[in-house]
Amino acid sequence: EEKDNVKVVVRVRPLNKRENELKSKSVVSTNGNQIILTHPLDEKQPKTFAFDNCFNSSETTSSDQAQVFDDVGTDVVQNAFFGYNACIFAYGQTGSGKSYTMMGSPENQGIIPMLCDAIFARIETESSELTQFKVEVSYMEIYNEKVRDLLDPKSSNKRNLKVREHTILGPMVDGLSVLAVSSFEQIARLIDEGNKCRTVAATNMNTESSRSHAVFTIRLTQIVSDLQNDFSGEKVSKISLVDLAGSERAQKSGAVGKRLEEGANINKSLTTLGMVISALAERNSKKEKFVPYRDSVLTWLLKDNLGGNSRTVMIATVSPAADNYEETLSTLRYADRAKKIVNHAVINEDPNA
Ligand code: ADP
Ligand code: MG
Repeated sequence: EEKDNVKVVVRVRPLNKRENELKSKSVVSTNGNQIILTHPLDEKQPKTFAFDNCFNSSETTSSDQAQVFDDVGTDVVQNAFFGYNACIFAYGQTGSGKSYTMMGSPENQGIIPMLCDAIFARIETESSELTQFKVEVSYMEIYNEKVRDLLDPKSSNKRNLKVREHTILGPMVDGLSVLAVSSFEQIARLIDEGNKCRTVAATNMNTESSRSHAVFTIRLTQIVSDLQNDFSGEKVSKISLVDLAGSERAQKSGAVGKRLEEGANINKSLTTLGMVISALAERNSKKEKFVPYRDSVLTWLLKDNLGGNSRTVMIATVSPAADNYEETLSTLRYADRAKKIVNHAVINEDPNA
């Protein structure tokens, strides 16, 4: 067992077209692993935060998707082949670059496609008669505490999938499609379909995509046989890749939640994630702090990834624009708290599989 803190990096997107046209001021700068936020009206006391890494797209024009992947994705691939669980989640206000970071576009692929590509490339070089690999994926959306299967849109429109606790596998979604894939092209097609399914829903209900969480999961199974000793063992790694709902909802939903009116559930997952992170951050100082994992679908499913058996990375995405100062500050504070979470990753090995 290894103890390690959640790795937290931030990424600053460039000013967008609208902000450039309005000649918006940038209030964010970076210096190595530090990010400096200046109040738009008071430049005297800038706030500085340090993270494991800072990526500043606002100061470069070229795409830096590869840079982010090198820092965050490469390790995850390496660890998956060792048999560790991993999780990468993107947190930030709507429009700050979460989907760009996790999924990207066909020209500028994000972490999910690059990671899948890297996994298959590595399988190619490591497969042999004695070492076989199996890759399975699932892709879901959590909206209003309901799980929708993005790889099987028809069936999940009818029913709403339930989370349950499996005695061996832990929390899982009952009836969620888990599809075996054998090439990057196959995965890419599934991702495309899933994303289309997300987009269709988003246009039906305008803001749905900013209020929903998308979770892409890869299960990598490695079967190693030792013919001489008539032994075969299995290593399994689960990689959860999460594009969270817009964080501006985190505060707003708090107020809504208290009144228990319609939509009180919409951001229950995000609100609970905040509480889980706070509880875990405090757990180090005060022993045995209750962590409310089961209060929301998202935190229940990510239980292992938060304070458990996983190597976890949080990518906090922020806008550099002066108008977004408050949201950016709140994202950086949230990310700062997440640095304190300690996980205990173990290799998932079953020698008699
Ligand atoms: P979110 O998913 O957080 O709501 P998006 O990922 O959709 O935000 O990003 C909003 C817009 O900003 C998109 O048009 C996206 O292409 C662009 N964008 C975000 N991050 C970057 C970046 N690092 N470099 C270039 N463009 C970016
Ligand atoms: Mg998005």
